Amino acid sequence: MEKTPMIEIDQLSKHYKQGIAVVRALDEVTLNIESGEFVAIVGRSGSGKTTMLDSLGLLLRPTSGRIVIDGADTSHLKDDQKAHLRGSKIGFIFQEYNLLPTLTALENVMLPLHYAAKPKGDRQWARALLAEVGLEDRMNSRPDQMSGGQQQRVAIARSLVNRPSMVLGDEPTGAVDSETSAQLAGIMRRMNRQHQVTFVLVTHDLDLAAETDRVIKLKDGKVISDETTAPASVAI
Ligand code: ADP
Ligand code: MG
Repeated sequence: MEKTPMIEIDQLSKHYKQGIAVVRALDEVTLNIESGEFVAIVGRSGSGKTTMLDSLGLLLRPTSGRIVIDGADTSHLKDDQKAHLRGSKIGFIFQEYNLLPTLTALENVMLPLHYAAKPKGDRQWARALLAEVGLEDRMNSRPDQMSGGQQQRVAIARSLVNRPSMVLGDEPTGAVDSETSAQLAGIMRRMNRQHQVTFVLVTHDLDLAAETDRVIKLKDGKVISDETTAPASVAI
């Protein structure tokens, strides 16, 4: 394809000092992620998955290498520029939902609009997203009035409200039972296709990994396999 890849990861390393030892949490990883892909990052505990995702989310400063998002090199951005890029281009989904307990579902979904100073008209968009995840009748419920699966659906809607180009999730189905996990996987897949948003999800969940276009496996901070699983479903 002649298009610029959405995310270019170029010789990316992140080292941590642990006493006198140095842990190579990421060790010269190079790969591209294309617009609209639905990607799983898998690997054992300690293989570097969270470090990879947090690097993509511009939450960590790489030891070396660079991440280019939509053609823009992020290596030399200042913290406030990174925060701006995060707010406008990247949505996040967390394992434990991270909803604000005192806000309703709709208010939680709208919260990122405030941080991004988006016009108020986007309330309709927030409502539409909640309807798309099947929560049209729970707009005014608070998190403690909803199941884990429903809370995570709110979080999925919230991740999309600023119309990001990519959504990052670290074990987004890690806190729910397998039936709920399959539902959430289906919803994220539908959102990925419908809104042409790239999803990059760290997961131990094989059902979720099975829904993806591509599975990237890490070991000791290196990519040990990178398999495209469903090429036919990427088009259109
Ligand atoms: P995963 O998410 O696959 O379990 P991580 O990316 O969390 O792996 O960690 C990769 C390696 O980096 C591990 O050896 C971990 O101990 C180490 N590591 C991660 N974060 C830190 C940190 N803040 N300080 C020191 N070592 C860290
Ligand atoms: Mg992790």
